[in-house]
Amino acid sequence: MVAQRIQAVLGQPALIGDQEIEVTSSIGIAMFPGDGDDAAMLLKHADTAMYYAKEQGRNNWQLYDQTLTARTTARLALEGDIRKGLERGEFRLFYQPQVRANDGTVIGIEALIRWQHPQQGLVMPGRFIAVAEESGLIVPIGEWVLNAACSQLREWQRGGVSVPRVAVNVSARQLAAADFLDSVAAIIVTTGVAADLLELELTESILMDPEAKRIKELFHLREMGVHFSIDDFGTGYSSLSYIKRFPIGTLKIDQSFVHGLPQNADDAGITTAIISMARSLDLDVIAEGVETPEQLDFLQRAQCPKLQGYLFSRPLPPDEMEALLRRGRIDLPARFGGD
Ligand code: C2E
Ligand code: CA
Ligand code: CA
Repeated sequence: MVAQRIQAVLGQPALIGDQEIEVTSSIGIAMFPGDGDDAAMLLKHADTAMYYAKEQGRNNWQLYDQTLTARTTARLALEGDIRKGLERGEFRLFYQPQVRANDGTVIGIEALIRWQHPQQGLVMPGRFIAVAEESGLIVPIGEWVLNAACSQLREWQRGGVSVPRVAVNVSARQLAAADFLDSVAAIIVTTGVAADLLELELTESILMDPEAKRIKELFHLREMGVHFSIDDFGTGYSSLSYIKRFPIGTLKIDQSFVHGLPQNADDAGITTAIISMARSLDLDVIAEGVETPEQLDFLQRAQCPKLQGYLFSRPLPPDEMEALLRRGRIDLPARFGGD
């Protein structure tokens, strides 16, 4: 009750100059004597609880309990492990094809990171990307990813494989790093890859929090030839009118909508709306997470131009991706139902 009262008071808007400012607060609570019997221990545990409260979202409070210390310890261990993994070169890229909806031609690939862990085997990004972001390690990891993807492209090209555009995931934290633009430009130059073959997948959060300098940098990379897409589109709260303020070329419809196709009326409506909106804004659009022939059928009818998902291929290690690139296309399941 005390925490909530404090939050209510802090949450009242304050007038500074002619700007109304609202503050939210995150509160961690430790209690004597259960959570510590001196001030230092109590503060330490209250701090741990406060970080947990922040993680749970804004304007939150949390009571300390011992499992929080265990979590923090586990997180620190993972952070150290990621750092070592980076030094030892344990990260790998897998590649998932993107196909043209009407004939299965491979028109793009998305690079997805994996961690070849010496004890745990192949670790998926869901297990380490969040910690990498919180710790800032996503910045060097992201550079490694860009470098690896561009080098792989060049290697394929030297081997006589014609490669489509490669999409690389870029997290908000990475984009916010001071030298992001420079590092992308440098990687393009050192690997000698055509900038036009590189696509950066950004999240919707960039549209919501546009820093003028950042937008300029994105336009600068676009001028060099780099393409941009918005990943997981439809899950954030971005205003559509904002999209055109950025050099975005493609929207990637989030898997969660594709998953409900064709039965779920909301998902069908949202998917159809994104496709037609993209067309009227002159944007390209890809549906992600296509798993069934029924979803394919729906998306073809809705005239979604590009598709990605397990139905066509799982993410593949480089040698298998190379074989697929040499074939150039994936057979689509025969259309059924017909009209
Ligand atoms: P994402 O960018 O949305 O990537 C798509 C994820 O969906 C991938 O999971 C992919 O394997 C999976 N997927 C593809 N087709 C299907 C399908 O038909 N059905 C289902 N259920 N899933 C499908 P993955 O590789 O585990 O990656 C998870 C997330 O980790 C990515 O989501 C992305 O946000 C992040 N990530 C992966 N690689 C990188 C990276 O190099 N840098 C950064 N910053 N994030 C990355
Ligand atoms: Ca992605
Ligand atoms: Ca996605």
